[in-house]
Amino acid sequence: MSRFDSIERVAVIGAGTMGNGIAQVFAQSAYGTVLVDPFPEALERARTTIDRNLARMVKKELMTSEEAEAALGRIAFETSLDATEGVHLAVEAVPEILDLKRDILKQVDERMAPEGILASNTSSISITVLAAATSRPESFLGMHFMNPVPVMKLIEVIRGHKTTDETTETIAEVSRRLGKIPVEANDYPGFVANRILAPMLNEAFYCVMEGVAEVEAIDEVIKLGLAHPMGPLTLADFIGLDVCLLILEVLHEGLGDPKYRPCPLLRRMVAAGELGRKSGKGFYDYSQG
Ligand code: NAD
Repeated sequence: MSRFDSIERVAVIGAGTMGNGIAQVFAQSAYGTVLVDPFPEALERARTTIDRNLARMVKKELMTSEEAEAALGRIAFETSLDATEGVHLAVEAVPEILDLKRDILKQVDERMAPEGILASNTSSISITVLAAATSRPESFLGMHFMNPVPVMKLIEVIRGHKTTDETTETIAEVSRRLGKIPVEANDYPGFVANRILAPMLNEAFYCVMEGVAEVEAIDEVIKLGLAHPMGPLTLADFIGLDVCLLILEVLHEGLGDPKYRPCPLLRRMVAAGELGRKSGKGFYDYSQG
């Protein structure tokens, strides 16, 4: 028997890009949800974003205004990890910094229900390494949501070295209740999505560096020729070039194969502060909005 029915109260730690979306989908699925971030302005931004997303769904007639109001009402916005006391499931979505994640996970582990399940939304850190910071590696796994969370259907469910079948099955059931499709993967660098995406983006960076084609032309070829909704360089600018570099470094170091070597042009752009959309310039110029 899985623990699915015993999960009622959920905590999401970190109210940034991913955390606010994750809290929204839990609340929409009638879970009592607490969203924790030490910065009140991050919580305020998250509340505004969730409110706006729900209003958009009402406008599109995907839910009623009463349902939207009820969903928002299910989220408690808190600045202290003490608010995770007794929760049955916690999903960590704080910045991709190993020591920070370890520290947060340890504190949540001490507060949540002893039989609860602890998950990380990490894109690239080993689930087994994170699990080792807690007292419950059997009940620890990766729950890798995609951006934007309310829209994207996939959750990569990543099993650490000690994650049990029952933990994995419980989280697959929870994912389905969220209206998502869980897909299981094992704990190797980049899991599946980033293992395949990052080398493709890297190849596009090499194409720019070697002058194979212009930036716009590379995106057009991939969009029209391979039916991707977005060209790789547009996508890399959206993800953030610093994040792309970090993921490639994780693959390169973790797998030791030179085929994952980050493109020198990518390194140079990141060093120059050209990080994509968020800095106003990457492969494209966003300074005019
Ligand atoms: P973000 O920087 O947008 O948000 C992180 C949030 O964590 C911020 O609101 C910050 O205030 C908060 N935070 C910082 N210190 C904290 C602490 N001590 N306790 C609680 N909260 C704290 O980051 P993000 O893009 O949402 O990424 C979060 C995680 O999700 C990372 O592990 C990232 O790798 C992963 N991820 C990101 C994406 C993406 O496209 N952005 C996709 C999949 C997975």
